Amino acid sequence: MKRILIIEDNETNRDMLSRRLTRRGFETLVAADGAEGIATAAARRPDLILMDLSLPVLDGWAAARQLKRAPDTAAIPIIALTAHAMTGDRERAIEAGCDDYDTKPIDIERLTGKIQALLSRGPSGAAG
Ligand code: MN
Repeated sequence: MKRILIIEDNETNRDMLSRRLTRRGFETLVAADGAEGIATAAARRPDLILMDLSLPVLDGWAAARQLKRAPDTAAIPIIALTAHAMTGDRERAIEAGCDDYDTKPIDIERLTGKIQALLSRGPSGAAG
């Protein structure tokens, strides 16, 4: 079973996303801020991370940079999530090392497609 870490400070969004992914056959882990997310990723080694960008303690861009800089977590694909589609968040997320990007409100079919695409890419992002 593939393990997905959801880093999201909004409890309602976090719980809903976790339930929907669980129903689709994923194991989910959750974290409520960027620092907790980094610690959970290092300890539990998820197969993929869903990263809200607007987070307390450490925002999603900074957390993504740290994860991609650390050898233990660098290969874990990250999908950035934001409600602000038009503010340059996407470009900044990719610059920070995120592998893909999606917008809220979440379209679960679209997001699951992006998750599957990254999971099927294999370890270390070999396909680019
Ligand atoms: Mn947020």
